[in-house]
Amino acid sequence: MRLDKPLPPGSTIGILGGGQLGRMLTLAAARLGIRCHIYAPEADSPAFQVAAAHTIAPYDDYEALAGFARSVELVTYEFENVPAETAAFLAARVPLAPDARALATAQDRVAEKTFLSGLGIAVAPFAAVDTVAELDAALSTIGRPAILKTRRFGYDGKGQTRIDRQKAAATALAEIDLAPAILEGLVSFDHEVSVIAARGWDGVVACYDVPLNRHENHILATSTVPSGLDPALESKAREIAAAILRALDYVGVMGIELFAGRFGLMVNELAPRVHNSGHWTLDACLVSQFEQHIRAVCGWPLGNPARHSDVVMTNLLGDGVQDWQRLAQEADVGLHLYGKSEARRGRKMGHFNRLSPRSGD
Ligand code: AMP
Repeated sequence: MRLDKPLPPGSTIGILGGGQLGRMLTLAAARLGIRCHIYAPEADSPAFQVAAAHTIAPYDDYEALAGFARSVELVTYEFENVPAETAAFLAARVPLAPDARALATAQDRVAEKTFLSGLGIAVAPFAAVDTVAELDAALSTIGRPAILKTRRFGYDGKGQTRIDRQKAAATALAEIDLAPAILEGLVSFDHEVSVIAARGWDGVVACYDVPLNRHENHILATSTVPSGLDPALESKAREIAAAILRALDYVGVMGIELFAGRFGLMVNELAPRVHNSGHWTLDACLVSQFEQHIRAVCGWPLGNPARHSDVVMTNLLGDGVQDWQRLAQEADVGLHLYGKSEARRGRKMGHFNRLSPRSGD
């Protein structure tokens, strides 16, 4: 189902997922006079604190989903693992953006890399593997070291293992619980970057500047803009992003993670949603990635993605959030806390954006 006209202020939209991304989407929607109804299974979802309405139910509770669909004019989501049946059920009742095809492509690493290769976009060498024999065969073509990842449900380095010179295929498969997998050649990249891109129902595309992303323990630590990447590579990254969104007839914001190196650019992963490496847009742009997503899915004109400041976004993980008082005193810092009660180790509790005047203009 497509949206036939822009949703005016006063409309209510549905969001699947109640984490920090849902919360920041809701806050951005509120700024435009749009209400959000959050659907999530966890009773303590941070997005509930700021939303006009919420439903606590599992994603396969079709009665609850039907009630949710009746109460909203459109459904979007904050996470890519929305079950296909849930997406199909909702899409039969209300417009769903991004649509089921975007979900199917981004949920399965083999589907994702096959789709990207089909567009002529470079990705790491890869092969689908389900058995030890297939993994041995794939290792002999792709070579070692390599990375074995589960096809589905992997994030922040979970569900993956590195295969060095010694590791036996059977050991590696056991490490990922014998899940259907993908073997990827190890890319020797110089930098990890991303593109936060948006596309509206009318096909208009807008991309933010490319951040340089630094990870610690597989979790994003900082995003820095400007990235310092060669401007020609940055525009190539934006072109790649636009080609992906067009090919999927995509509506909404997408995060596209890339490797940059001597080889140029390779796409690592697509996130069919707002992305942690776009959190800097909350303070360094007039229209953040969250507002941009709301604008895109609601059929509004896309906002200007231009950046008015240089910025470093730093995630506050676990106990790191105890720094809130010091950070709140700093004049050049935009502080964002997610309202989570328990600061478990490695848990994303908030982030801050340190701004400085735009350089190089
Ligand atoms: P992913 O879950 O695919 O985003 O992978 C998590 C992190 O592992 C990435 O951000 C990279 O730092 C690293 N990584 C993933 N795939 C590869 C690869 N094929 N070659 C080298 N590093 C990789």
